[in-house]
Amino acid sequence: MSRITRLDPTVANQIAAGEVVERPASVVKELVENALDAQARHLRVTFDDGGSRVIAVDDDGSGMDPDDVRLSVERHATSKIRQLDDLDNLNSLGFRGEALAAIGAVSHLTVASRVESEPYGWRVVLEQGRVVDEGPLARARGTRVDCRDLFAQFPARRKALKSPGAELGAAHQLIANVAVAYPEVALTLVADGKTLLTTPGTGSVSRVIQEIGGPEMAEALIPMAGEALGGGVRVSGWILPPQWARGNRQHQVIAINRRLVKNFSLRAAVEQAYGSMLPDRRFPLFWIAVEIPGEDVDPNAHPTKAEVRLHRERVVAGLLHTAVRQSLRQHRSFAFDPIENPVGAPGNDRTRAADVAQTSWTWDTPDDSIPVLHREIAELIPLAQWAARYILAQGPQGLYLIDQHAAHERVYYDRFRRNVHDMQLAQPLLLPLPITLTPAEWEAFQQHADELSQAGFRIDDLGGTTLVLREVPLAVADVADLSFVGHLLQSLLGQGWHSQHPISWATDSLLATAACKAAVKSSRGLSRQEMDALIAEMAGTDSPRSCPHGRPTILTLTLEEVDRRFGRR
Ligand code: ADP
Ligand code: MG
Repeated sequence: MSRITRLDPTVANQIAAGEVVERPASVVKELVENALDAQARHLRVTFDDGGSRVIAVDDDGSGMDPDDVRLSVERHATSKIRQLDDLDNLNSLGFRGEALAAIGAVSHLTVASRVESEPYGWRVVLEQGRVVDEGPLARARGTRVDCRDLFAQFPARRKALKSPGAELGAAHQLIANVAVAYPEVALTLVADGKTLLTTPGTGSVSRVIQEIGGPEMAEALIPMAGEALGGGVRVSGWILPPQWARGNRQHQVIAINRRLVKNFSLRAAVEQAYGSMLPDRRFPLFWIAVEIPGEDVDPNAHPTKAEVRLHRERVVAGLLHTAVRQSLRQHRSFAFDPIENPVGAPGNDRTRAADVAQTSWTWDTPDDSIPVLHREIAELIPLAQWAARYILAQGPQGLYLIDQHAAHERVYYDRFRRNVHDMQLAQPLLLPLPITLTPAEWEAFQQHADELSQAGFRIDDLGGTTLVLREVPLAVADVADLSFVGHLLQSLLGQGWHSQHPISWATDSLLATAACKAAVKSSRGLSRQEMDALIAEMAGTDSPRSCPHGRPTILTLTLEEVDRRFGRR
């Protein structure tokens, strides 16, 4: 058995450094957080050669007196908490007192600082964790921490670093995020002599976003805000409309009590609020601040404090979701650009939509690609149309009576179902379609706006009880006349769309109604060609013998039965 010995403090710090100092950006994070904790108003980050040569942070914060400068580089030396209880109401970013010690253990570190009340500052120099020099120096109030040759003595860790460009990218991203969370601080990033980011410190978040993303991005920002009733939870910030979405999550910032965090469920809550407005594998851009009572947050869940535990995560997630949805919705109705002003325009009601619905449908030519699932039906030969609603046909079993509307409904329903994956995709309407709802329908619409949006509807809410339909699900977009969608929406809402009905129910019901509206009416005459086409399409459906509502599409009269009726048997 080997003997237990206490670790040399330098070794202990080097081990701690493994957790805290993962890469140059994590050094930047710790140093910047310290400057912010010291109430700095100006903060300058220098970053050379991907951070492996120089990482320095200058601030004009409260500074440290000579004793504190010496203490600051010792492990577990912190001015921020005295006892465990303090963690519950933390108003600083740091609290473990190990960052400077850890960084000092794996680099050449100089800490220089001065407080207002002292005539001069103090400087401590560490070489791989050991103080090699210290002494007074003249400087302004504030602190400069200078970290050079990071991991120089740790070839394995140095090798694990990405390219200087990638390390700079990570640091740049981090500083941009900090800048958003601290708009009142003027931040500057200078990398290899070039100024990459500078913020004015005016307190305006949108101004900071402008520095990060340019004036066009700032122009497109949509404000969002929300507050939980009585819960002391508030969310606020800026989001961008869905067309700004990107293939990565680079511009997604959530700060909880001004601490930048990664939190999966909060992020998901925001992303889901965009719903089907986002194309596949695209991520929205947002900068959001969450304010929550200190006792609801546990920042001590992760060594670099990047992840926090939230006690009322679902409340916050729900609030975020609603707030983002609401501002997207408002934004859309402001952005509404009426081709013909639907509000108050003559005929702006459902009668107008109904009129349009009377326009003709186009008959599809038979599609060879449809598999013949039902050979019997495929073999039917239409003989005549009867009573403007039935097709008489002869086939293997005798005489067939086909309900043209029910059969066509089945055809459309199956086609919609085949395209159901496209349900999430929306197709814009050339002419936005105004719809006026009854109060009950309006109520249902308010409750189910999310589901409708997930089903691919984009509906602008013009206030009052007027909606404007701007996009419809792609699956139903190829129907010749789209105005039926207004009807189907109304009928869906009118049916009392209960919240316990899952989306699949809604989708199904939507498809069935869409099919019904799209299908040929019972009073229309059919040409021989049209009857042929309908029969061919029916043969390719999953269950050609019933319509989506369950009514039969075909009745059969066998030769035996006819013979029997005629008294031949
Ligand atoms: P922590 O931030 O967890 O307290 P650090 O190792 O990061 O631990 O810093 C140790 C202490 O050094 C801090 O508690 C603070 O008192 C002091 N300090 C570090 N950086 C600064 C700074 N930029 N300005 C003023 N004080 C600082
Ligand atoms: Mg710290």
